[in-house]
Amino acid sequence: MTPPTIDRIFDAVVRIDTACCLTFVSDQGLRWFGVDSLTRLPPDFTELLHAEDAEAFRSQVAEQSESFACDARIVRQGNELWVNIRAYLLADARQYMLCIIDISQWKVGDASLRHAAEHDELTGLPNRTYLKRAFEQLAKRGVKPFSVALLDLDGFKKVNDTFGHPIGDAVLKETTRRLAKVIGPNDILARLGGDEFVILLEGSAAAASSQLTNVLLAIARPYDTAPHNAYLGVSIGVAEYPMHGEDYSTVLKNADTAMYYSKNAGKNRVSVFTESNESADFSIKAAIHKGIQEGEFYLEYQPQFDINRKLVGAEALMRWTSHTFGRVPPDKFIPIVEDSGLMPFLGKWALRYACHQLKQLRELMPDFVMSVNVSPVQFGADDFDALVLEAISEAGIDPNRLVLEITESTLMKSQEKTERALAKLRELGIRFSIDDFGTGFSSLAYLTRLPVSSIKVDKAFIRAIEKPGKGSFADEKLVTAMINLAHSIDLKVVAEGVETEGQFDFLRKSGCNLIQGYLLGKPISGAALASLLKAAA
Ligand code: C2E
Ligand code: CA
Ligand code: CA
Repeated sequence: MTPPTIDRIFDAVVRIDTACCLTFVSDQGLRWFGVDSLTRLPPDFTELLHAEDAEAFRSQVAEQSESFACDARIVRQGNELWVNIRAYLLADARQYMLCIIDISQWKVGDASLRHAAEHDELTGLPNRTYLKRAFEQLAKRGVKPFSVALLDLDGFKKVNDTFGHPIGDAVLKETTRRLAKVIGPNDILARLGGDEFVILLEGSAAAASSQLTNVLLAIARPYDTAPHNAYLGVSIGVAEYPMHGEDYSTVLKNADTAMYYSKNAGKNRVSVFTESNESADFSIKAAIHKGIQEGEFYLEYQPQFDINRKLVGAEALMRWTSHTFGRVPPDKFIPIVEDSGLMPFLGKWALRYACHQLKQLRELMPDFVMSVNVSPVQFGADDFDALVLEAISEAGIDPNRLVLEITESTLMKSQEKTERALAKLRELGIRFSIDDFGTGFSSLAYLTRLPVSSIKVDKAFIRAIEKPGKGSFADEKLVTAMINLAHSIDLKVVAEGVETEGQFDFLRKSGCNLIQGYLLGKPISGAALASLLKAAA
């Protein structure tokens, strides 16, 4: 009777020295590794391990403890195998004996059990248990802020009641596919049950809510539920960790409260949790969300003229006619849009829209120039340059025909980042103009360093230029000085808010390059601008 050898119990028995070099592999071990001699294996045992496990193994060996055990992946003939390794320091303390057992069968079972416990059967999405764990891991990793968005479908019950459960299930699966497409690569999508979903997103609730407008749009598309399409909406509530709660259940509860604001405010919208759920801003914010979905925003174009009154370009200006509030001026809604995190979304839309308009006008006047306002919030975003490029190439316009209007405060913010973005876009031919010039820091010195091509003298200065003789001499001198200074560093000057012939005359004499104002043209629709161009051509 042959005595049981260690080889019968373990899949491989291996000895390594304290530098992890292989010194011995049992016969069965060699067969298990798929080689016929020790020399066919790499000298360093950790090279047989998966890169993610090798480091941990090496540090265990370095500790020189009497014994240790770990699970690791061995890469054998291109396949990964989970093994359990028990290591014993041998008497001479210069070697470890490793007893290796193939546990890949158990690992698979283990993983699938865990998967089943943490996932939803119908959609395959993570469930509550998973979500809670993911939340706690994010918190533990010190990621903050991050946001929990609770989604509840509007009109799902009706679908279920009208078409039956199989169709209801299909709608939930389709919803899962649509949501999976619009969420970011690091976001986690889970299903809580019924028609409730959760998205876990890194970043503030404000930032999250702007991304979530894509979710509204994705769900708004008709569902193909033969024989008739079904139309659903989604009410979303967002709460932020740690601002709206320090633990999972509090944040989820507050997201739920915010979701109910959305339901009560008319459904199909995103609401961010607020301690006091009233605030005037809140309702205007909700209206902005709704306005975006319902196409209440549009652009008007104010023509710009050269000093001979020839039409040469236009500034795109955002307009909002709200069902609830009527016509809201941009000075009022833009700060709220910025504050609620929707500016990148709306700004991107405006840019794309203006580029498309420009493309249509190009046929009528090839060198027509379009100016678009860019909020500091947009400019600060990491992907701003990519976004501008996308808008340009999508519309197929020449970058030389686009001017981005930025304010002095944009330039003052995070100078290095701003300068990089400016330089990159300038290289591609896009021009920049400093809006509201004179109201901010007004240091022409920094302009010499930046790739800016013009300044727009703020209308407050233009207003001060009255009819000849009546205007304040000091104000007029100031405008002349601005123009001269700008010209001395090769910048063009645009005057905005020009309302009288007197102002126009003064500006022409001072050498101002472009004129914009009610005197020569008010902001008008794209169609009206096109007719103006036709007449001018
Ligand atoms: P702004 O960039 O200084 O735009 C010029 C404003 O002056 C416009 O007001 C325009 O209608 C007005 N204006 C033009 N000519 C005259 C005139 O002769 N007299 C007077 N009194 N006003 C004149 P609007 O359209 O109300 O826009 C206000 C501000 O809202 C803009 O000031 C700009 O800062 C912001 N804004 C507008 N559209 C956008 C946009 O798409 N994106 C961003 N980020 N901001 C925008
Ligand atoms: Ca402007
Ligand atoms: Ca301005």
